[in-house]
Amino acid sequence: MSRTAVAGRIVLPDRILAGRVIVEDERILALEPDPAAVEGPLIVPGFIDLHVHGWGGHDAMDGAAAIDGMAAGLLRHGTTSFLPTGYAASIARTTAFAEAARTRIGAGAADRAEVLGFNLEGPLLAPERKGAHDPAFLRTPADLREEELAPLLPGLRIITIAPELPGSVALIARLAALGIAASLGHSGATLAEAQAGYAAGARTTTHLFNAMSGVDHRSPGLAVAALTDDRAWVELIADGIHVHPGLWPLILAAKPAGKTILVSDALSVAGLGDGRAWLGTLEVEVREGRCTLVVGGNLAGAVVGLDAAVRNLVRAGIPVERAAMMASTAPAELLGLADRGRIAPGLRADLVELDGTLAVRRVMRGGAWVADAG
Ligand SMILES: [Zn+2]
Repeated sequence: MSRTAVAGRIVLPDRILAGRVIVEDERILALEPDPAAVEGPLIVPGFIDLHVHGWGGHDAMDGAAAIDGMAAGLLRHGTTSFLPTGYAASIARTTAFAEAARTRIGAGAADRAEVLGFNLEGPLLAPERKGAHDPAFLRTPADLREEELAPLLPGLRIITIAPELPGSVALIARLAALGIAASLGHSGATLAEAQAGYAAGARTTTHLFNAMSGVDHRSPGLAVAALTDDRAWVELIADGIHVHPGLWPLILAAKPAGKTILVSDALSVAGLGDGRAWLGTLEVEVREGRCTLVVGGNLAGAVVGLDAAVRNLVRAGIPVERAAMMASTAPAELLGLADRGRIAPGLRADLVELDGTLAVRRVMRGGAWVADAG
């Protein structure tokens, strides 16, 4: 049995406690108040990234070794658990991705973020809201055969579905019964179509405002359904590019606490600096934190981690308690994980120390400090 204490300003859902997190083996044993710790670093729960395509040159769809590579890179940015996320591809490639991701679930070494399952953003997307996804691979639930779908389900935690596509409502209900979260997105749904999706059991929303029908006051769409349904979670990409920071307070005012989830939506080119790279069959260009398609110029996805997203939120005036809830607590609750997502006795000791500029200083995963993190 090993015991250690982590001192600082401990970020809890409703307050910041100056004190020590007592860690025994891989769990949090207790929280001890200590006024002297008020000068210490901020201590937040390890980030949980539910929507991340790659990191550091590793693309989640390139197999188990690539998933391990991104897991190592993500951990050093404070992400202690994640869902490797596929984009629209052939069924054969999607199935290979699912098989590879499945082999990594729970297989994490101490120097990698833990794989919790996987997320499929595609192929069930509406063509007119495809964003950066290759239209050649888009399908509808009605035309997806059972022998194509069934092999994708074990380990699947979240799948994006455009609710207006033929067969979507029935598939959403089936997935809900299996405990798989349908995430409405890449959709031009009317308000009624979107509400039907949530009513059928869709639990969350893929990158709110991006690639969806929005807040047009004469023809409200998916974004309005997501913001006004208190049961629905919404993902937010807080890089300051995908959704203007001016809308962040609107989202947080509309959604109950714990229903907004920070996601990175990071591509394999994240963490590599500026330059060109391939996203499946599409070439992208990264320039100053913005990632666009070389052909057409559409935004392709994001290139900043959850550490930078938390920093952006706090700089915009959002309390760090709320930011930590968005980066940890809310994603854990969406997946039904009771062992992580907060700093509390009995939970996994997944902790991130942030310095005065909110940069990652140290990362603890399962009670052990990660070498060379921060
Ligand atoms: Zn994505």
